[in-house]
Amino acid sequence: KPRIVLKVGSSNLCNGKIIDKTQIQALANIISELKTQYDVILVSSGAVASGHTELTIDRNILQNKQALASIGQPLLMESYRNAFLQHNITIAQLLLVWRDFDSRRHTDFAKNTIDTLLSHNVLPIINENDTIATDEIVFGDNDRLGAYVAHYFGAKLLVILSDIDGYFDKNPHQFPDAKILPIVHSIAPSALQENHTPNESFATGGIVTKLLAADFLLKHNRMMFLSNGRKLDILRDFLLHKKHTSGTLFC
Ligand code: ADP
Repeated sequence: KPRIVLKVGSSNLCNGKIIDKTQIQALANIISELKTQYDVILVSSGAVASGHTELTIDRNILQNKQALASIGQPLLMESYRNAFLQHNITIAQLLLVWRDFDSRRHTDFAKNTIDTLLSHNVLPIINENDTIATDEIVFGDNDRLGAYVAHYFGAKLLVILSDIDGYFDKNPHQFPDAKILPIVHSIAPSALQENHTPNESFATGGIVTKLLAADFLLKHNRMMFLSNGRKLDILRDFLLHKKHTSGTLFC
């Protein structure tokens, strides 16, 4: 089966400040459908937001954020486990840091684990090891981790599910006349240097980290699809019926 990576952002998993269990269930439902045709790897944010439901400390302070991530990661996995239970899908957790990709030897260790899990139809769920990785946590809401995972673990396509329908010619939250770009073949270097523009308090990436992820994948001959995580029919159409009705395909 072809391998795909699905990345869900905090903005997509949270309802206000709490983890949205209905959305996690919706994701589990579509992933179980996708698994009939693809080997799926999930990259999921949401540890800090989950932790914040148990301990309300200021998550803008780095140490607090890391503490919240360490509280929230098992809670997040518990939510996924419950959601996948009814589909009989076993899940696995992999916490990665950039160092895991800095040598062929390190990457192979992680890849071997992924290969083994997928061969047994288990769903690997990857997150950044926020609790110890200090530069990473401020870096980008798992978008680039998703791109690395796709490239180094052999997936042709990274799907990024966000709170936005795709990549627009300008920020749609500021410009009501912004138009979605259905297909993008290359990204202007200037677009990669803009300020980060996350839409939501738990999100850290904004569009720039998504463009950096897309740029990395395009340069490595892989694809990325940016789509709205609250409109999973679009993803279903795209991946299972080969119909591109919305979302941006970087290819
Ligand atoms: P996530 O948590 O899913 O990673 P982010 O909030 O970090 O989501 O990033 C998505 C946000 O990027 C959008 O909601 C929007 O506010 C912002 N954005 C800025 N410019 C653009 C653009 N040209 N096209 C789409 N989104 C943009």
